[in-house]
Amino acid sequence: MKRPKRIKQRAQVGLLGKELTRRSRGRCELCLGRENVRGFELVPFPEQPTIERALMACGRCRTWLDSGDVDPIQAHFLSTAVWSQTEPVRLAAARMLLTIDDPEDPWMHEALDAANVDPATLEFRT
Ligand SMILES: [Zn+2]
Repeated sequence: MKRPKRIKQRAQVGLLGKELTRRSRGRCELCLGRENVRGFELVPFPEQPTIERALMACGRCRTWLDSGDVDPIQAHFLSTAVWSQTEPVRLAAARMLLTIDDPEDPWMHEALDAANVDPATLEFRT
């Protein structure tokens, strides 16, 4: 089990607000929730914020991404999110899946395959 290092979101993520809102239609791109939705950058941060490395995420999903404490019962939406056409959404979903204790769970296996993310690097397989 891998826990992402806790890295504070930087203020510049606000620069992506408009573009992210357009792409997400104001919803969390992971679970489609609308509560407390805000931009979230994926580590490692690029020099300039880009929506290619960021997503809209609700309060719960941002907490999960930050802490690595994902509730597997509530997290089944991730098996849909890993099929997203949006790369940062797929990457975030895979990273969340990888923090769940039970990687042998069959649905999780399938989901990680779908996302095509390498568990060792936490980036897309090339
Ligand atoms: Zn969410």
